[in-house]
Amino acid sequence: ASREYAARCLSALDAARDSLHAAETKLGDMDAIAGDGDHGRGMVRGIDAATAAAAAAARQGAGAGSVLIAAGDAWADKAGGTSGVLWGAGLRAFGEALGDQVSPDVSQLAAGVAAFTDRITGLGKAAPGDKTMVDALVPFTETLTRLAADGTEPHQAWAAAAVEATVAAQATASLRPLKGRARPLAEKSVGTPDPGATSLAMIFTVMAPSLAG
Ligand code: ADP
Ligand code: MG
Ligand code: MG
Repeated sequence: ASREYAARCLSALDAARDSLHAAETKLGDMDAIAGDGDHGRGMVRGIDAATAAAAAAARQGAGAGSVLIAAGDAWADKAGGTSGVLWGAGLRAFGEALGDQVSPDVSQLAAGVAAFTDRITGLGKAAPGDKTMVDALVPFTETLTRLAADGTEPHQAWAAAAVEATVAAQATASLRPLKGRARPLAEKSVGTPDPGATSLAMIFTVMAPSLAG
């Protein structure tokens, strides 16, 4: 069962890679408004390294948790930038929480996502409203956790959480960044959504069918 879920994690990472490649220019342009313009490039470098490392781990027979840990470590190593450190550490925490023994149910998935979120907020110290990826991540996690507790079927719960994340990412347009490289030019950023929140909502959306299918 764990091998089967490892294959699903690989599919989820492949889906993220396709969407990040497609959005690379858009994410870079968003980051250029008040930041340094490298968010698209950094995310592509991170996901390319993550998918390669995850596939190599799976070929050696790694279970889902180990596949996600390999992906996270490669992402942190190769992406560069704030988002790379946070995505890498978050994926590692997700993998540690899921472990290799399980074929996760919706509550275990929600616990994995909560571990991802806790690692990112623990390292980055951003709170909702600071105009970072955390603005999309917190509503995602809260919705998934609540629906998991209600016994909602995994795909439906994950998809509903992804909608909340997408709405929250778009709503960051009205905010001023209080963390990260966009802070010195905060006023310029008003009117544009946060790039890291946008990419996070996109990734969680496209991962739904494989991670929570
Ligand atoms: P860098 O800012 O180092 O160039 P990126 O451009 O790849 O890295 O990522 C920028 C994104 O990182 C921002 O849009 C924001 O979502 C996220 N970010 C920045 N600082 C933090 C933080 N302290 N906590 C969480 N996310 C952050
Ligand atoms: Mg940047
Ligand atoms: Mg940078």
